[in-house]
Amino acid sequence: MIPEELPLRLILDGTALVANWRWLAHCAAAPAGAAVKADGYGLGAGDVTRRLAEAGCRDFFVATWAEADAIEALVTEGQIAVLHGVREEDMPSALASRARPVLNTPAMVARWKAAAPGRPCDVMVDTGMNRLGLSVEEACSGLLDGLRIDVLMSHLACADEVDSAMNARQRASFADVAGRIRSERRSLANSAGICIGADYGFDLVRPGLALYGGIPRAEAAGHIAPVARIEAQILQVRDVQPGQTIGYGATFTATRAMRVAILNLGYADGYLRAFAGQGKARHGDVECPLVGRVSMDLVAVDLAAADVAEGDWLEIDYRLETAARATGLSQYELLTGLGSRYQRRWIDQRA
Ligand SMILES: *Cc1c(COP(=O)(O)O)cnc(C)c1O
Repeated sequence: MIPEELPLRLILDGTALVANWRWLAHCAAAPAGAAVKADGYGLGAGDVTRRLAEAGCRDFFVATWAEADAIEALVTEGQIAVLHGVREEDMPSALASRARPVLNTPAMVARWKAAAPGRPCDVMVDTGMNRLGLSVEEACSGLLDGLRIDVLMSHLACADEVDSAMNARQRASFADVAGRIRSERRSLANSAGICIGADYGFDLVRPGLALYGGIPRAEAAGHIAPVARIEAQILQVRDVQPGQTIGYGATFTATRAMRVAILNLGYADGYLRAFAGQGKARHGDVECPLVGRVSMDLVAVDLAAADVAEGDWLEIDYRLETAARATGLSQYELLTGLGSRYQRRWIDQRA
């Protein structure tokens, strides 16, 4: 039997999620879909999709057919696009699904034309990232004739860089291709691309990171609200004497008498070892710095003046932008690594 209260919590703010989505659409001056791949960036694809669909989001982007299947029942009015397209092995799932593939290669185009003539699809054109997608030449060669293309898209390589000439080059290249290929809608921008300016919005934007509280560029600061908070329970409080060490490798030596809390959180929960020497917990206004290494399931924090005991809870400092800077991990890695041992509590304020 699983205990009703787990010793580790993810507090998820559904109101912030929806507010972030609305701000992104406003900023783009275009309708916003949502990238919910990788289990909604680790926060739970179903929980995220349900909230955004209710708020009016009509386009959901996943990586694979398994991910499409997981949210299909929740997307009753909108569309699901599978970014990785259709392999031969995917065709039975694709034909049975309401989701549509994003065709990335000539073989995928041929496969879709043969198996599902007239059925809508999306198409990815590569404008310089050299990841997935048809080259501009392939896309304009007549290869796409006869397809019913809903969203023609491309993806920006450097949108989160402050001043990259690549963004304008990719935008121009995409606008050119989009003028030569017939589609219902055109889409270029991810979260960071939205922040560059409304001329990157086209007919649909595809934010992921910023929906979940990530700050892709300075323009988003102050507008994007955090969505996920971590709270970990104290399993033990101990007194450590000067000269004693804490944790694996004995990397931390106490220079004074300390009270230390051992928390139920570790690298198996996505709290990676890069937080050593950087991480902080918090009790009210009292900061409790991490001491020693991060274990698989445990960390130690200096309680300083925090008045807490075994069984109490501390909030872990997991502000994505500052945590990314401190650890060298990306905001994407911080979210998608969170793992399955959290008690997930969504909080939704009724508008
Ligand atoms: C993941 C992804 C997105 C969302 O990107 P963010 O940077 O998280 O906003 C948009 N488009 C494509 C093609 C993607 O793969």
